[in-house]
Amino acid sequence: MKKNYDVIIIGTGVAGLFNALNLPEYLEILMITKAGLEESDSFLAQGGICVLKNENDFESYFEDTMKAGHYENTKESVEVMIRSSREIISDLLRYGVEFESEEGELRYTREGAHSTPRILYHEDVTGKEITGKLLKQVLDKENITIMEHTAMTDILSHNNDCYGVIIKLENGQETTVMAHDIVLACGGIGGRYQHSTNYPHLTGDALTIAGKHDIRLKNLDYIQIHPTTLYSTKPGRRFLISESVRGEGAVLYNKAGERFVNELLPRDLLTKEIYKQMEKDDTPYVMLSMQTIQGIDVTRRFPNIYQHCLDEGFDVTKECIPVVPAQHYFMGGIDVDLDSRTSMEHLYAVGETSCNGVHGKNRLASNSLLESLVFAKRAAKDILSNRSKEKMIS
Ligand SMILES: Cc1cc2nc3c(=O)[nH]c(=O)nc-3n(C[C@H](O)[C@H](O)[C@H](O)COP(=O)(O)OP(=O)(O)OC[C@H]3O[C@@H](n4cnc5c(N)ncnc54)[C@H](O)[C@@H]3O)c2cc1C
Repeated sequence: MKKNYDVIIIGTGVAGLFNALNLPEYLEILMITKAGLEESDSFLAQGGICVLKNENDFESYFEDTMKAGHYENTKESVEVMIRSSREIISDLLRYGVEFESEEGELRYTREGAHSTPRILYHEDVTGKEITGKLLKQVLDKENITIMEHTAMTDILSHNNDCYGVIIKLENGQETTVMAHDIVLACGGIGGRYQHSTNYPHLTGDALTIAGKHDIRLKNLDYIQIHPTTLYSTKPGRRFLISESVRGEGAVLYNKAGERFVNELLPRDLLTKEIYKQMEKDDTPYVMLSMQTIQGIDVTRRFPNIYQHCLDEGFDVTKECIPVVPAQHYFMGGIDVDLDSRTSMEHLYAVGETSCNGVHGKNRLASNSLLESLVFAKRAAKDILSNRSKEKMIS
């Protein structure tokens, strides 16, 4: 196995893949993933990806993001994300990503805490559409090597400068690999919870390793609980009932069959109301009705949700489903600047593993795919410009 690369990227979700695609082909890149190539939360994203649909929406999009984040967001990061969103969507379209459209015009949907529809989507499998297309591009690149079922167990550093990683291969053997730059794109922490929408192998490894090396971390207690996952007593990942279902008109009922809340509250507030109701009713769930959705065929708009619920014994066109909150997203992470640099030289963090402050205390729906892509691209640019600066100095 080759022992030296220009860049090593840990993680093959949207953040890792987009970072790799934004690096030039003359750089030798190694990507590793703890699991299979399609086993990342990026593939699970249902609702969509936000975009600044026109200049007039800037103030409102900015305010919605800040309000959802309890105004604890880093304003500069929010501005960069929103201002970069159109460029990112153009990049995705160029890579062949397909979003819902009508007569050549993109269609927008709405989710909780958004004051207007501004979310692009592909049925209810937006993450699979985006990540699958990015993965296909990466697999075509000769300069990128991907190793599946290979886990980073530590980083190598000297005087606060990162120069490699220790990895555990599929056969259990440990080895070291060096690189000029290392990018941590290891996703969230849901695997540490009993009830989570995340893949169980996403256990916040990068955070543990960062902590061990005194790399700055931020907002470690900012954890998002998604208000609506399908209630189940089976072990394993909880199935998400996307916020866009409520955005399109689904409603929540208590035990008596009465609505008890505004279904489009920000996630943290809605979760609180659902927990309160569950306690009052003494039930382990509340009910969600998709029969109230008007004007669209839910089996075509939400085919994945429709089929999954059917497999679990519920026909959402005819009956309510039991839903319960579950761990969903991590707003905190490895502290990074606007170019995704950590507090250690030559070490970057992107996607859910990182914290650039965009989401504040609570993430606005459909901002995370966008945030992952925007700041992964910025990390790639910074890696390049740093390399040229270092070359000039030497
Ligand atoms: C069910 C669900 C629905 C969602 N819906 C939306 C949505 O509609 N819109 C939106 O914007 N966001 C949504 N999100 C959030 C969004 O999908 C994620 O925040 C985003 O995809 C994170 O991307 P990532 O690249 O940072 O991490 P991931 O896609 O989770 O990828 C992490 C990668 O790191 C690898 N990894 C982890 N640890 C190690 C290790 N030690 N060694 C090697 N590899 C490692 C994993 O194997 C994986 O390849 C949703 C999330 C879930 C779970």
